[in-house]
Amino acid sequence: MQGRRNPPEGIAAFVYRSAPARVVFGAGSLRHLGRELEMLGMKRPLILCTPEQAADARAVAANLGDARPSVFAEAVMHVPVAVVGAAVARARAADADGLVALGGGSATGLAKAMALELPLRILAIPTTYAGSEMTSIYGLTDEGEKRTGRDDRVLPATVLYDPALTRSLPAPLSASSGLNAIAHCVEALYAADGNPVVSLMAEEAIGALAHGLPEVLREPGALPGRERCLYGAWLAGMSLNVASMALHHKLCHVLGGSLNLPHAETHAIVLPYATAYNAPAAPAAMAAIRRALDVPDAAAGLHALGRTLGVPKGLGELGVRAPQLDRIADLAVSQPYPNPRPLERAAIRMLLQQAYEGGTPASMP
Ligand code: NAD
Repeated sequence: MQGRRNPPEGIAAFVYRSAPARVVFGAGSLRHLGRELEMLGMKRPLILCTPEQAADARAVAANLGDARPSVFAEAVMHVPVAVVGAAVARARAADADGLVALGGGSATGLAKAMALELPLRILAIPTTYAGSEMTSIYGLTDEGEKRTGRDDRVLPATVLYDPALTRSLPAPLSASSGLNAIAHCVEALYAADGNPVVSLMAEEAIGALAHGLPEVLREPGALPGRERCLYGAWLAGMSLNVASMALHHKLCHVLGGSLNLPHAETHAIVLPYATAYNAPAAPAAMAAIRRALDVPDAAAGLHALGRTLGVPKGLGELGVRAPQLDRIADLAVSQPYPNPRPLERAAIRMLLQQAYEGGTPASMP
C-alpha cells in the first residue's frame, strides 16, 4: 500500500557512531556460547539472571565444557544498588573473569552496573525484546531514585541472539516488550541526532516486529515469529543506542517513576498518542512508520497493532487516576529536551488524557 522506500532527499549533516559489538544470531546459537567465551578469554564467567530464569542459567552453566562458570540468580527490575553490591561480591569471591547476562533488561542491567565497578566484559544472551544489550546506557536505583547514564564500559562485547530461548516468553510480555522496542524505533526516526542509517534500521525493525508479534501471539512456541521479533529487537536496540529519545520516552519515564507503572506496558499504551502528538512535525518519520506497518496513518496503525496484541487499553487499566495526569504533564515540560514538536503543556495534557482513555488517537491542537 505504501510502496518502496526511496533514498533520502537532501541529507542533513550527521555524526554516526557504531557500537563495536559482535552479534551472533540464529535459532540454536546458544550452542556457540563456549566458542564465544573462549574468543573473549573468559574461563570463569559469572552468569547473571533473575530468580525465574535460574534453572535456565544452571542448564547453560552445566553445558560449558572446560569453562568453570558460577551463577548469580538474583537480578531484579530497576537494578537496586544492594543487588549490584551482592553480585560484585560474588564475582570477586568466584574470581570471575567475565559476565554473562542471560535474560531481559533486568539481567543485562545488572551486568552493566557491575561492569562500572569491575574490569569485566559482558556477553549478553537476551531473552526479551528490550534491546538493552545493544546500548551503552545503564540505570541504577538507590533508595527509590533512578540514576541513568552512558558509559562505553557497559556495552556488551558479544551478543548471542537465540530466538529459541524466547519461545518461553509469555505472550503478554512478548507483546509489551515488542511494542517497547517499536517505541525506540519511532523516536529514532524523528530524533534530533538521527541519521539515514538509523532510520533504515528503525524502519526495518518496526516492520519485523509488527509482522512478528501477531505471529508470536498466535503461536508463541513457533520459531519464525520469534526470529522476526528478535531480529527487530536487535535493530531497535541499535536505534536506541544511536539516537536520542524524546517526548514518548520522557512521558514513560515520568509515568513509571512517579506512579510506579510497569515499564513495557506503559510504553505500549503511550506510543500511539505520543506519535499522534509529534506527527505534524515529523512527516518523514510518519511516512517510514506507515510503510513499515503498511497502514494509511502511523498513530492509528500503532494503536490498532496494540489492540491486536491485547495490550491494556489505556493508562486507566494500569490503575492511573485522571487527576494524576496534571502533574505528569507538568513534569514532562519542566526541563527542555529536543522533540520534533515544541513541548506544549495543554496539548501534552490532552495526549495523556487520550492515553488514559485508550481510544483511537486524535489530533492534539
Ligand atoms: P525483565 O528483564 O525484567 O524480564 C521480565 C520477566 O520476564 C522476568 O521475570 C524475566 O525472568 C522473565 N523472562 C525474560 N525472558 C524470558 C523468557 N524468554 N522466558 C520466560 N521468562 C522470561 O524485563 P525487560 O522488559 O526485558 O527489561 C526491562 C528493564 O530493562 C527495565 O528496567 C528497563 O529500564 C531496562 N531497559 C534498559 C535499556 C538500556 O538500554 N539500558 C533498554 C531497555 C530496557
